[in-house]
Amino acid sequence: MAKLPDGTEIRVLLLDLDDTILDNRSGVRAAWDFVSELLAAPNGLRAEAVRAEIDRVTDWFWSDSERHRTGRLDLLAARRTILGRALDALDVDDPTLVDRAAAAYQEHRSSTLCLEERALETLGALRARVGALGLVTNGASDAQRAKIDRFDLWRWFDHVQIEGELGVGKPEVDAYLHATRSLGAAPEETLMAGDDFEYDVLGSLGAGLHAAWIDAHGRGRPRRPAPRDFHVLSSIRELLDLLEG
Ligand SMILES: [Mg+2]
Repeated sequence: MAKLPDGTEIRVLLLDLDDTILDNRSGVRAAWDFVSELLAAPNGLRAEAVRAEIDRVTDWFWSDSERHRTGRLDLLAARRTILGRALDALDVDDPTLVDRAAAAYQEHRSSTLCLEERALETLGALRARVGALGLVTNGASDAQRAKIDRFDLWRWFDHVQIEGELGVGKPEVDAYLHATRSLGAAPEETLMAGDDFEYDVLGSLGAGLHAAWIDAHGRGRPRRPAPRDFHVLSSIRELLDLLEG
């Protein structure tokens, strides 16, 4: 049985997928730069101007919780919307080019996706440490399954939960409670770890779980208030120090 430093016994560990087990962030910049060039060249625009519009529309798009929910369940459509609006702001109307750029972006991101450093050996060690390991990921079934398949992650988990299959995702309380119930643990015996402060930390604390925030982007401890204390780690490898055997 694993224990937190305060002596709390942890029977189940739930992990997020993207930017927790998989490095899904390192290719973002290069992918947008590539797409900016692709959109700029045939329209006589500067790539920097296109990129600035994409950044502006991206912030707008993902800032709304309902757009976020529908967007993460259909990322290709979300990217078409973002790129279409960015071009629109630059007085360009070319839906075919937008479709091509959205597909190119997806391909670029997919080609740069990789495991976080020493992720697999860490999963193995964590699995030996806690009673059960669960994967709780937001997004569409096809997209998330493709990533789990590609890195053969099924074998590490006793429960895999994908938003697009369950019909409920983080930060809904039911998402965490469905996972704890599936693994036969009470929320207070469960630790959720992930890189998204709202979805992996605030949501799980709200459902009565313990939480560890993985600072994958190197942003430093969030200033936003949380209902209870949580742990701050720089990677899942540090879960091995946090959870004493
Ligand atoms: Mg994540």
